[in-house]
Amino acid sequence: MKFILTQELGRLSKWLRILGYDSVYFTQENMGTLIVEALKDERIILTRHQKIPLGRGVKILNIKSDSVKEQLQQVLAELQLKLDEDILFSRCIICNTLLEEIEKEEIKDKVPEYVFKTQRNFTVCPKCQRIYWQGTHWGNVKKTLEEITQ
Ligand SMILES: [Zn+2]
Repeated sequence: MKFILTQELGRLSKWLRILGYDSVYFTQENMGTLIVEALKDERIILTRHQKIPLGRGVKILNIKSDSVKEQLQQVLAELQLKLDEDILFSRCIICNTLLEEIEKEEIKDKVPEYVFKTQRNFTVCPKCQRIYWQGTHWGNVKKTLEEITQ
């Protein structure tokens, strides 16, 4: 399942990427282009706008809440998505690209020394070069996800 989100849903798009879902963040004003992009890649439109013209084959989920937790709950419930540990943290949160594993030695000069010493597994975004590792942030994310999915 793939998504395209309108610009008021930036935080939700990051969360869907954390969950491993292919989520494009659409920041233009032209709703016609949005529909074209959605149909081209078979993406479900997630939006808080009520005025998107419905066309054939266009799937739209109108997001009700302002709170990102409630937004995520709604998406998971209405589309019956399950948390899949295998794809969790598999995408770049910034640009949606699939992350690749990288040898620890290769990122030695690119992360803080403390991180290098304490972490074992690293992934890198092949597009924007951002480096990811587990650490405390990871734990917080999992905790939030558990709260949401309870
Ligand atoms: Zn990236």
